[in-house]
Amino acid sequence: MAQRRAEYGANRLEEAPPTTAWALLLHQFHSPLIYILLVAAAVTVAIGEYIDAAVIAAVLAINAAIGFFQEQRAEQSVRALMRLVSPKAHVSRGGQEAEIDSAELVPGDVVLLESGARVPADLRLFRCNDLAIDESLLTGESLPVRKSEVAVPEETAVADRLSMTHAGSIVTAGRGRGWVVAIGRNTELGSIAQSMRSAEIVATPMQERMRRFAQVVAAVVIAASALAIAVGLLHGLRLSELFLVAVTLAVSAIPEGLPVVVTITLAIGVRRMAGRNAVIRRLPAVETLGSTTVVGSDKTGTLTENRMTVMEAVTPVGGVTLHDGFESPPLSEPLRSLALAGVLANEADIAPGQGDQEKVRGDPTEGALLVAARRLGLDFRAERTAHESLYEIPFEPERAYSASVRAKDARRWIFVKGAPERILDMCVNAAGEGRGTLPLDPLEVQRHGSVLAGRGLRLLAFARRELEPEEDAARTRLAGLTFLGLTGMMDPPREGVRESITACRDAGIRVLMITGDHAQTARAIGRDLGLGDGADPVVMTGAEFALLDDAARERAAAETQVFARVAPEQKLAVVHALQRRGEVVAVTGDGVNDAPAIRAADIGVAMGRSGTDVAREAADMVLTDDNFVSIVAAVEEGRITFDNLRKVTFFLISTGAAEIVTILTALALDWPLPFLPAQILWLNLVTNGVQDVALAFEPGDPDVLKHAPRSRSEGIVSRLLWERTLVAGFTMAAGTLCVFHWELGEAGSVARAQTVALTTMVLFQVFHVGNSRSEHQSVFTRSPFSNRFLLLATVAALSVHVAALFLVPIQLVLRVEAIAEPATWLRMIAVASTILLTMELHKWLRRP
Ligand code: ADP
Ligand code: MG
Repeated sequence: MAQRRAEYGANRLEEAPPTTAWALLLHQFHSPLIYILLVAAAVTVAIGEYIDAAVIAAVLAINAAIGFFQEQRAEQSVRALMRLVSPKAHVSRGGQEAEIDSAELVPGDVVLLESGARVPADLRLFRCNDLAIDESLLTGESLPVRKSEVAVPEETAVADRLSMTHAGSIVTAGRGRGWVVAIGRNTELGSIAQSMRSAEIVATPMQERMRRFAQVVAAVVIAASALAIAVGLLHGLRLSELFLVAVTLAVSAIPEGLPVVVTITLAIGVRRMAGRNAVIRRLPAVETLGSTTVVGSDKTGTLTENRMTVMEAVTPVGGVTLHDGFESPPLSEPLRSLALAGVLANEADIAPGQGDQEKVRGDPTEGALLVAARRLGLDFRAERTAHESLYEIPFEPERAYSASVRAKDARRWIFVKGAPERILDMCVNAAGEGRGTLPLDPLEVQRHGSVLAGRGLRLLAFARRELEPEEDAARTRLAGLTFLGLTGMMDPPREGVRESITACRDAGIRVLMITGDHAQTARAIGRDLGLGDGADPVVMTGAEFALLDDAARERAAAETQVFARVAPEQKLAVVHALQRRGEVVAVTGDGVNDAPAIRAADIGVAMGRSGTDVAREAADMVLTDDNFVSIVAAVEEGRITFDNLRKVTFFLISTGAAEIVTILTALALDWPLPFLPAQILWLNLVTNGVQDVALAFEPGDPDVLKHAPRSRSEGIVSRLLWERTLVAGFTMAAGTLCVFHWELGEAGSVARAQTVALTTMVLFQVFHVGNSRSEHQSVFTRSPFSNRFLLLATVAALSVHVAALFLVPIQLVLRVEAIAEPATWLRMIAVASTILLTMELHKWLRRP
């Protein structure tokens, strides 16, 4: 294997290279702020202010470098996370079935195909069970092709190669086996597609909105700068001086870091979700998750464990309860037939091993039947060998049954198992004592079924018929069967699901169960999980729903908690009805035909373990543990991410506002400038560059899941936050101006007063970043240690600033002086801490 792997390479098409480093670097200069700064640099050179020009150039370089590295890291980590769900292939190697990475396939491997899978390589099929494959990717033919193992001549066109199938095609039904004949670039797909597109990183609505927001702010700032120049000219200042002021204003107020910070915050959200078993495949999902109002979840495997155990077996002449310590009496005839049908119309197997080492391979529903048959004393391996397989109809959820045609001692039988409604329709009589038959009593069967389903047991019915001598095994009619009985299987709820459903209720999120299972089974499990809030949940079947008109569907979608016996197209209809009501819908799915519903949902969710490739490819999010709890975790992280975006934005624009108000007021009062352009750049670098990013690491309010979902159209900056931005801006500006004015009077040195003003502003921001950590809660409720990044960033920012005050080279460039007097420091700290007071007051006044 390893040798062949070395010889043929990996089964992979090259990915399109991600954004090149150059493109990403250039991208950093593509923003209004940078344009303004470039012009400013040119003008400062022209008027001979070389130090300022150098500082602006340095800032441009640093800004580009920080943006470049942060964006690159964010993009790389998102890409890596998206790749967590790499394609897998089922193979049979050396008689052992295994699941491997598709990339590991080599020519000669035997690949097992199942409905919903994407064909991993070019295959020569040697066994087909009802196999149909959609090859439209290669042939353009939209209808699936029925495959057969009969060889075709080599020169046959791709579309007519019935015994071949090609990489990239989709198995829409059935099962099959084939040898790998070509991999990677040697496949038909490889010869037409030079490179597969890698997971694409699209700009999210929020990123778009943020970019536009930054542009609007830039426009406002430019207008304000023009205003400042006009005011200055009226006061008789020189234009060259005023230009610097205008640049200062522009630099101070444009939230240049915003777009990058949005990207980083989203990337952090993606990482946290991955840490909680939800892998995001499309970035916009991170935002949408936070506004989710309805979660429609599959039952089996997502709400429950998909760990099936047969509890009851009922035949037309009596039943058995398989309890712990059950000892099988000699098998009576009807029970034996039931068990036989259960193991023959069955694709599962039990891997050899002792005790707990034993592992069921295949569908847990079918595995449970093997285990039960063994407990009843039936040797399923011997029976499978004794009954030669002639034809199989594998289980597909749409069909809700599976069948197998078998031959033994020159007699042929068809065995069928599936949903009772389907099976009863095929039966004409029932198995009786010995070899006899009884008349079929459907009402009696239904009564038995109701009792089992009422206990939350999953129902299966079994039937069989002997084939007529002239009957073709592959065209056996599923009619005239003899009913053999029912089984009831238990599938325990997953741990934590009940709590998650309660959490959803508190969070204003409705949870629906959408299942292919029986209505009564679904109701019992729904009640058990608390879907009906203590009572029986409201149940509707897919067929009932399909009969309703649009208005009635919307009403039903609002009132129903459990949809049972739902076909995939009905699931899609439920999603549409919910969306017409304005809900933001997350829906799970696993089968081939679930893809449309997954795609239509606002958040399509697929299963990483049990789902099909098709469902996963359609999904926005894949759960690596298939667990409902992970959906709720992702919603929680989505809300936290949105909150953090808000915090970051608020911090950025409120400090920008403070700077601009300070400068405009000083101008209006005809004071000297409180900050020089280079100092403003420093301020934005020291504070914005480090602290805002650190806010994106906030762990989130403990009550994120305690309030209703935010509306999807709600902007980042709410009215409340605008208001608070003004309050914060004016507080910080007033404090800075007071200190500035006092220092001017005391020392009379403008440079000294500017240094003090600058340092006061830095201190303001250090306190204010604490305020920004929570929208509603007091800064004092949060431990400084709960976000170590922020603590570190704040300490770093402060130390760098203090160092700058005392280091001569930086002093020269920034034109600052050392501040050594403790009294001055005390004064600055006292003034700066007022921002805590006003923000606490505002949070209290506008508490929710
Ligand atoms: P769920 O929403 O619980 O996953 P499915 O679509 O898997 O529902 O199953 C629907 C019905 O099909 C079940 O209630 C059961 O009666 C029947 N069924 C499930 N698995 C099998 C199987 N392997 N073979 C035959 N019938 C099955
Ligand atoms: Mg299922």
